[in-house]
Amino acid sequence: MTRLVLVGGGHAHLEVLRQFAEAPVPGCSLTLISERPHTLYWGMVPGVVAGDYAPDAPLIPLAPLAQAARARFLIDEVCGLDLAAGRVMRKAGEPVPFDLLSLDIGGVADLSVPGVAEHAIPTRPMERLLGWLADLDSLAQTGPLPVMLAVVGGGAAGCELALALTARLGRDIRVTLNAASPTLLPGFPSAARRRVVATLEERLGSVVTGTPVVGLEKSFLSRGNHTLMLVDAVLWATGVAAPAWLRETGLALDARGFIRVDRTLRSVSDRRVFAAGDVAAIDGAMVPKAGVWAVRAGPVLAENLRRAVRGDPLRAWRPQRRALALINAGWQTAIGVWGPFVFSGHWVWRWKDRIDRRFVARYRLPEDETSRRPTPDRLTVPAG
Ligand SMILES: Cc1cc2nc3c(=O)[nH]c(=O)nc-3n(C[C@H](O)[C@H](O)[C@H](O)COP(=O)(O)OP(=O)(O)OC[C@H]3O[C@@H](n4cnc5c(N)ncnc54)[C@H](O)[C@@H]3O)c2cc1C
Repeated sequence: MTRLVLVGGGHAHLEVLRQFAEAPVPGCSLTLISERPHTLYWGMVPGVVAGDYAPDAPLIPLAPLAQAARARFLIDEVCGLDLAAGRVMRKAGEPVPFDLLSLDIGGVADLSVPGVAEHAIPTRPMERLLGWLADLDSLAQTGPLPVMLAVVGGGAAGCELALALTARLGRDIRVTLNAASPTLLPGFPSAARRRVVATLEERLGSVVTGTPVVGLEKSFLSRGNHTLMLVDAVLWATGVAAPAWLRETGLALDARGFIRVDRTLRSVSDRRVFAAGDVAAIDGAMVPKAGVWAVRAGPVLAENLRRAVRGDPLRAWRPQRRALALINAGWQTAIGVWGPFVFSGHWVWRWKDRIDRRFVARYRLPEDETSRRPTPDRLTVPAG
């Protein structure tokens, strides 16, 4: 019996569980270890912040999915690997032995700027961000208005959250978006950047680009150009960092500490170990650290884990060059980007809403009907 252990309930593992439920792999015993009982689907998080969705709308419970896949499910934080002994080390429970191991644990917030760990709300884990919304609402009810909020990070998540927070509190909040890069949305085509910048300038307090935030105190932030901003709260939405404990595992990592894998998603240093999603760095492929790519890796990972159990040759992944990006712009509007094409409006939001709801429904099995198998129908890959 091959012992396959899945660490993390990330978006690629959702698909692995779904496919193993649909077609069990003979000779394989499956274990899922996740620090949380659910996965939080990123596509709907800005919508929760904007007030479009209930807080539980993006939640995908893992227990029913694990049960459908006949997997043992352990809720625990993994804190290390003993590769020599073939064991996964857990914070609370006994080590778990494996023959094959797959890691889909995402990334963590980069808290390296002084004061961020103490004074900012990081966007990862997203559960912390959603928990903080109640504090923000009470600040808006009790404190002097408007609430002065800084969002730090000029990528898609920072832009979406800045707009969503403005949509949530309206005139009661003044949001300043801060980006270290000279332009927002680096990596996006210029037409898309122009559209997003125009939307931000129309709806936000202000946008400051080209100046990194270099420090935080309780009630102000300081920028690299020696300017200060008084703040009631700071949301930290800068890029993703690798979990620190990976450095002790002995796995080959890239310069930033993410697990180096080949195009089959197998570790370049250990043939028993696979990785997908934000935590993986594919040698020779520029795959962005974004949820849409974690989702796309899912079917490849599922197939290669199945093949690895059987001892068959693995399949190489050729990631598509582009992905549809649908950015929630608040007020039930969204901006869509497909290559050089940019489109926006309420209809784009409705389109995104349909894709997002379908994604969650595909993996959210009723908790009281855990024997139900997931349906094999085709799925539109969620927009990034
Ligand atoms: C506000 C916001 C908006 C975003 N919007 C978009 C977007 O529009 N488009 C897009 O493509 N991307 C978006 N992203 C990025 C997206 O969230 C990530 O790229 C995506 O979630 C990565 O998926 P993953 O499967 O790698 O890991 P995750 O979704 O992070 O899942 C990892 C899972 O592993 C668990 N885990 C972590 N560590 C351990 C451990 N040590 N032991 C056990 N379990 C563990 C976690 O609890 C989690 O359930 C956004 C991110 C944020 C913060």
